[in-house]
Amino acid sequence: MNINDAIRALPKVELHVHTLGSLQPSTLLSIIREDGLDAPYETVEDITRRFRYSDFAHFIEVYMEIIGYITNEKHFERITYDMLKKCAECNTHYVEASFSPRDHLQHNLDFSRMVKAINRGINRARTSFGIESNIRIDLVRSSTQDEAMEVLDLIEENPQNIVSVDIGGNEPLFPPRPFAEAYKRAYGMGLHLVAHAGEAAGPKSIWDAIKYLDVERIGHGVTAREDPKLLNYLKEKQIGIEMNPVSNLRTGVVKSIREHPIREFYDRGLLVTVGSDDPSLFHTDLNNEYIQIHKHLDFSIQELFQISLNGVGMAFIDESRKNALTDIFNHEYNWIMEAG
Ligand SMILES: [Zn+2]
Repeated sequence: MNINDAIRALPKVELHVHTLGSLQPSTLLSIIREDGLDAPYETVEDITRRFRYSDFAHFIEVYMEIIGYITNEKHFERITYDMLKKCAECNTHYVEASFSPRDHLQHNLDFSRMVKAINRGINRARTSFGIESNIRIDLVRSSTQDEAMEVLDLIEENPQNIVSVDIGGNEPLFPPRPFAEAYKRAYGMGLHLVAHAGEAAGPKSIWDAIKYLDVERIGHGVTAREDPKLLNYLKEKQIGIEMNPVSNLRTGVVKSIREHPIREFYDRGLLVTVGSDDPSLFHTDLNNEYIQIHKHLDFSIQELFQISLNGVGMAFIDESRKNALTDIFNHEYNWIMEAG
């Protein structure tokens, strides 16, 4: 087996992926056709071309356009199923996929119906591919406290497979602190706590997510590299960092994969894993993320496997499930190594 095939065969977990950012051009085209929507796309290639960006603002523009095409809750079943099918193709065993309900509530979609459709997709994917998945709810950092609380009300009424809350979106403009009360309440509801931080804003954003939101994991965390004290703290507390190298390259957070801090973080002993963030929109998948950091940052197959095991350790599942996954992962890893 060549090294890239071995990397593809590694068992993986995906802890940082956005449901809508996984919307494949083929899925979008069939939704547009089925619903008879007015859109300037005739072919899958037309949509694939649209998923290329000049800068971050352009990316957001495309993202908002896609949201506008989802006018029926039932489509989340297919979107989720197709996302998990792609994950299974990367030998991903477990997924926590982020979903931003406010984006769709604004278009008058119903939360309960959306979550039910996502769960139908999760169940079908489990039957088809044996893949497990849970839901992470993005409270969206441009929301007001009342809006965040409204989403928590909705989660309370429809808790199926929802394991955590997150804040994503415009990081420089909307710092974590105003979400302190919502996170406290989410914790009381038994939800785990994550925040996007240190992607488009400096290390203070990460400190604030820790200080005010008491997060267990950080999404991205790239700018922690600017603050040695923070790096020590993240290491000491073993706060999980979900890093997304290709996404950071596409949005200009790093100039090249070679400059991505995951190598430094890993070598320092921080608890890091890798995610694909918005795989369809960024033309990547988890296999590609692993291959890129192998190619440009010299991650060996043993180190990549450790990144997978870190993901198992960071996952929001109970200990018995973690132990079972670890056994399966070790078994598959030994098989890959024996296959040479
Ligand atoms: Zn993200």
